[in-house]
Amino acid sequence: MNTKKIQNVVIVGGGTAGWVTAALMVKVLGKTLNITLVESDQIGTIGVGEATIPPIIPFNNALGLDEKAFLKATKGTLKLGIEFENWRQKGDKYMHAFGGVGKNFPFCDFYHFWVKSQQLGYSSEFGDFSLNYQASKQHKFAKLNQIEGTNLPGIEYAYHFDAGLYAKYLRSFCEPLGVTRVEGMINQVTVDKKNGYIQSVKLADGNEISGDLFIDCTGLKALLIEETLSVGYEDWSHWLPCDRAMAMPCEATSPILPYTRSIAHDAGWQWRIPLQHRTGNGIVYSSKHMSDEEAKKVLMANIDGKPLGEPKVIPFRTGRRRKQWHKNVVAIGLSSGFIEPLESTNIHLVQTAATRLLKFFPHHGIKDEEVYEYNRQSLIESERMRDFIILHYKQNQRDDTEFWRACQRMDVPETLRQKMALFEQSGKIFREQDELFTEIAWQQVMIGQGLIPKDHHPLVDSLTPEQITELMDNLKVIIERSVNKMTSHDEYLSRL
Ligand SMILES: Cc1cc2nc3c(=O)[nH]c(=O)nc-3n(C[C@H](O)[C@H](O)[C@H](O)COP(=O)(O)OP(=O)(O)OC[C@H]3O[C@@H](n4cnc5c(N)ncnc54)[C@H](O)[C@@H]3O)c2cc1C
Repeated sequence: MNTKKIQNVVIVGGGTAGWVTAALMVKVLGKTLNITLVESDQIGTIGVGEATIPPIIPFNNALGLDEKAFLKATKGTLKLGIEFENWRQKGDKYMHAFGGVGKNFPFCDFYHFWVKSQQLGYSSEFGDFSLNYQASKQHKFAKLNQIEGTNLPGIEYAYHFDAGLYAKYLRSFCEPLGVTRVEGMINQVTVDKKNGYIQSVKLADGNEISGDLFIDCTGLKALLIEETLSVGYEDWSHWLPCDRAMAMPCEATSPILPYTRSIAHDAGWQWRIPLQHRTGNGIVYSSKHMSDEEAKKVLMANIDGKPLGEPKVIPFRTGRRRKQWHKNVVAIGLSSGFIEPLESTNIHLVQTAATRLLKFFPHHGIKDEEVYEYNRQSLIESERMRDFIILHYKQNQRDDTEFWRACQRMDVPETLRQKMALFEQSGKIFREQDELFTEIAWQQVMIGQGLIPKDHHPLVDSLTPEQITELMDNLKVIIERSVNKMTSHDEYLSRL
C-alpha cells in the first residue's frame, strides 16, 4: 500500500494504447491530474490494428467525438462483421456478423428454431437471418436501431480506420485539453529501491520525467511492466499457435466492403481491412509451419490492389502479463499481452483497460485491494476472449495441412471445452457476466465452424412444421426488404 496522492500521470508510448488512454483520462480527470505522454518518433508505432468491434461506438460517444469528423479524419469505413473464408473447410465461408440473428424469443434463442427447420429440410444458412450479413453481402449500410415496422434488431456496426491517423486524431483531441506530449526515446528508468515504485524515466536528451503513476503503453517492448518490473508472462501459444505477422497495405479497391475478411491459409490466416484510401492486408502465421518467404508469397498472391510499400514482419507471442497493474505501473495495450488479431479485440481491450483504470483510479494512493481487483477483472475479461478465439482454430475440419490437424488435436482450456460440449449436446450457450461476445456471436462461429448441436429447446416443438417454415420465410422477406432500402456503403461514405 502507498498513500501518496496521485497527481502526475506519465503515459509512456504514443500508439493507439497511449493516446486512447490519454484521451479518456483527460476527458474524465483532466482537471485534477497532470498528464504527460512520452513517445519516440524514432521507434514509431506498430502501425497495425485497424479493425474494431461495436463497443467502440459508446467509447467514442463518451469522449464526445463526432462520428462524421472521426471517419473523415481516420479515412474510416463501417464494419458489419468478419467474414471467415476457408476456416471450417477450404472453399466455405461464414460470417461473424455483429448484431442479432432472426427474432428474439423468451426462454430460447432463435437459433433453436433454425436448427429445427434444418431437421425439417428447410434450406437456409444461419446467416440468412442476420441483417448485418445480408447487408454486407450487398455492400450496403444504414443506421438502423430496428427493422422498420418490426421489433427485429437493426444494424450494429464498428469501424475500420487507419491506425496512424487514429493516433494523430486522438492527439489533436488530447493536447488542447491539457495533455503534455514529450517526444524522445527513454533510455533509463529509475526505481525507488525502498518500495520498487518507478520514480522517473530519462530520455536520450537528458530530460527526466517523474510521476506518481506510470502507464506502460510501450507496445510489445513492455519497457516498464516487464523490462523494469519483471512481472512475467503467461504464454498461450499452445492454444493460439500463430507467432508472426506480415503486414502490407495495398491500393483501395471498389466497392469498399463494409466488413473485414479473414481468409485461412495453410498455416494461418490473412486479413483484409478496407479503408477509404487503401486496403490493409496482412498474414498471421505459425513459424513452425510456414517460413517468412512462404508467408510473403501467400500474402502477395492474395492481395487485390497494387502494393503500397514492403511487407513488414511482426513477431509476437500470444498470452498476457501475469499482472496488468504492479506497483505504480499499469500496462495497457500490447505491453499487457496480445491475444491475436482474429476477432479485433485488442483495441477494445485498450478501451476497457483505460475505463477500468479510471473506475479504480487511486487518487489517494495505491491500495493492494484495488490493484488485486483490477488484475482479477482484466484476467477474466481476457480469458473469455481468448476462449472465443481458440474456438476458431480448434473447431476446424481441414485435414489438408499439419497446422490445421494440430489445431484439431490440441487440448483447449477447460472453460472452452465445457462450452463446446454443452452446445454440442443441447444447443445451449450462456454468456457469463460482462463477457464481451454474445450468445449469438458464439452460435455463429460454432455453426460456421461445423459444430452442430444434437438437440434443440423443447419450446420449438410446440410449433408445427408449417409454422416453422412460415417463420423462416417471413423473416427472410423482412430482412431482404430492409436491405433493399439501404444505400450502398460507398455512397454512405461519399456523403461524409
Ligand atoms: C499483426 C497485428 C494485427 C493487429 N490487428 C488488430 C486489429 O485489427 N484490431 C485490433 O483491435 N487490434 C489489432 N492489433 C493490436 C493493435 O495493433 C494494438 O492493440 C494497438 O495498436 C495498440 O498498440 P500499442 O499502442 O500498445 O503499441 P505501439 O503501437 O507499438 O506503440 C508503442 C509506443 O511506445 C513508444 N515507445 C516504445 N519504447 C519507447 C521508448 N524507449 N521511449 C519512448 N517511447 C517508446 C513507441 O514510440 C510507440 O509510441 C493487431 C496487432 C498485430 C500485431
